[in-house]
Amino acid sequence: MCYYFYQGPEPEFTLTADDLVESKTAQRTSRQCRNLLSLVEAQEQHKAGLLKLLPALTTGQLGKLKKVLSSGIRAASQVIFGSETHLAEWLNEDEDQDAVAGEKAELRKQVEGLLQDAEQQLQNMQQHVQVLCERSSKSSFLKNIAAAVGDGMPFHAAEDAFVSLLHHLSPTPEKLPSASELREKLSVHHSASLLPNQAPAEPPIVTISGIPDERSGGVVNGKVDARLMYQQVDSEDEDKTELKLVWRYEVEMNNNWYEASVAVDDLQVVHVVDWASDAPSSRTRELAEITKSHKGGKQKPLPAPSHPKPFSYGVFPWGINDPEMGNQTTERAPWDVVASPAGWHSFSDKSNTFIKSGVKGMKTGLKTAFGNFSVPEGQDGTLSLVDAQGKNRSAETWTMFETTGGNNVFAHEDWEGQSNWLHNWRPMNSSMMFDYEYGEYDGLRPKEYIDMAVTQLFYTTNMYHDLLYRLGFDEVSGNFQMDNFGKGGRGGDAVIANAQDAYDSASNNANFMTPPDGQQGRMRMYIWNTHSPYRDGDVEAGIVIHELTHGTSTRLTGGPMNSGCLGFGEAGGMGEGWGDFFATVIRQVTEHANYNKDHSKEVYSMGAWAANTPKGIRNYRYSTNDTVNPSTYKTLDRPGYWGVHAIGEVWAEFLFVMEELLIAEHGFSKTLFPPVDPTKPNDYYRGGNETVATFANGKPKPRIPKHGNTLALQLVVDGMKLQPCRPS
Ligand SMILES: [Zn+2]
Repeated sequence: MCYYFYQGPEPEFTLTADDLVESKTAQRTSRQCRNLLSLVEAQEQHKAGLLKLLPALTTGQLGKLKKVLSSGIRAASQVIFGSETHLAEWLNEDEDQDAVAGEKAELRKQVEGLLQDAEQQLQNMQQHVQVLCERSSKSSFLKNIAAAVGDGMPFHAAEDAFVSLLHHLSPTPEKLPSASELREKLSVHHSASLLPNQAPAEPPIVTISGIPDERSGGVVNGKVDARLMYQQVDSEDEDKTELKLVWRYEVEMNNNWYEASVAVDDLQVVHVVDWASDAPSSRTRELAEITKSHKGGKQKPLPAPSHPKPFSYGVFPWGINDPEMGNQTTERAPWDVVASPAGWHSFSDKSNTFIKSGVKGMKTGLKTAFGNFSVPEGQDGTLSLVDAQGKNRSAETWTMFETTGGNNVFAHEDWEGQSNWLHNWRPMNSSMMFDYEYGEYDGLRPKEYIDMAVTQLFYTTNMYHDLLYRLGFDEVSGNFQMDNFGKGGRGGDAVIANAQDAYDSASNNANFMTPPDGQQGRMRMYIWNTHSPYRDGDVEAGIVIHELTHGTSTRLTGGPMNSGCLGFGEAGGMGEGWGDFFATVIRQVTEHANYNKDHSKEVYSMGAWAANTPKGIRNYRYSTNDTVNPSTYKTLDRPGYWGVHAIGEVWAEFLFVMEELLIAEHGFSKTLFPPVDPTKPNDYYRGGNETVATFANGKPKPRIPKHGNTLALQLVVDGMKLQPCRPS
């Protein structure tokens, strides 16, 4: 079965062949084109219907509409564009006054703004219909391609096919030079080598450079890699597929990271997948100044540490979801020594791809991973860095960052919203003490506590890395690390974590781009304009965890080199759901102990603090109580449940209920981290430290977590490894 995937420069619409009815207007090309055309047609109609309906809506209905629109066009598409009957039905069912804020006129203005976004999506779609369906279109650029690269060739070179592709993918094609000018600028580098490839099955890479950068409608760093491959595509004949020789490109842009294939013979774009999850609209929104203000109730200033020590971080500690849930404290050397044997700031010089770049705070050529600092208290200091081949790595020299960068993540501001992250601002401290106060309760704006926000993002991302490592998202499974310590997989890919991204424009969201193993994932966290002063998504752990889980699920599903398995439909929905589930299970450890000793009363929202609404950003909060969360599989038949986030919250609710049932049976663990040495007595695994049985080949069987919550988490991670590409 060949699935289709469509995403415009702002990747919001996705569709499968089965989603759509055949359109009578398009008979000229493939089923994919007909589907696209019929979708555009239907959406145009229903958008018109909605605009007619808009003036008559009540405040409650407007609030509801705003909420679904804010959660992204994906979630909104069925409601708005599904059918007018559905829309009216949906607007009138269980009207929720909670969602209503502000005056009706103000609300209507906001809904109209969001509708404009939707319209822009439609225009993008139309442009892409043109791209995919009508090669001989009126676009002068497209006409010129033929002249620039030579028409009627049986085989076009990588750079020629790229000229044709770039115009389709660019968010601002009007900024690009003409096809022939563009073709002139490009140069090509073939990376051929006599040495065996890391993965011999992969075709060699052709690197195209000289491409305009992202500010000129082009790509990040002006470079793109291409590979010659065969791709399964729909044939003209219904229900059949054929193999086409294509150039497959990895095109990194500001808000998207596309894998796209162009046929070598006729330059048709035959396949586009976006590796970005939760990508925001690129339309710059005016940030509405909201006057409503209240102080975070449980917040208080950080006391000065009495005995300052290196490797300390002033943060909302692991398990505190957001500033309403607990206080900032100082955490010292919090890493897991199994998951991060060289701590969070170091990796070998050999793994340092930036060694000559002069990054601030970077020290190289050190004799030990901790530089001049003694090994943190409570750790045995042996740093048993023996690689898989049994080679002792202690003779290597080390890089250490006296800032928020290291083996698992580089965290920094990205106020400009650009991709030049390496030299962006990071807090620096040569004593390795990253203690900064969070200032919202003093009325500070996010920019004024950037050091704390970046430290928090660094901390949360590292803690997540360490936990997931212990649950099996390790080097071989394709995790994100600069140095894989000789344990397999591909290194060189610590997460790039952008705090307060695009400070003055993008808002109320976050996203994660996951390329295959060996390339750095990129997370963008945004400011939320839902509160005065504005709130910083970096400080809400649940949002960060949701995004990082896109990296985990994408790398684990279908293998670490395949990033296209969770793009859309139920698979994409599950991708969203795992993020909410991880965020919930992690905060539950604290909140269960502090607030909800009765599991049946536990209720968890997503993004409630950042969005400044108790209900959070999903339709329902997670709870075993079906009056709080009535979601069942049948819920997916309802209008409004077409997009990945809506599907995801249903999946996350299943997982949460599954976890609660396991807790009822097996009890609750106060920590999610397995013991560093499981052969010592412990309460984490069934049978404690008993020797585990072995498989027939002599390998030890995995230990089984004893408690319901740890067992649920382990099962979910194992499930991701076992499931096929595009699970349902
Ligand atoms: Zn997501």
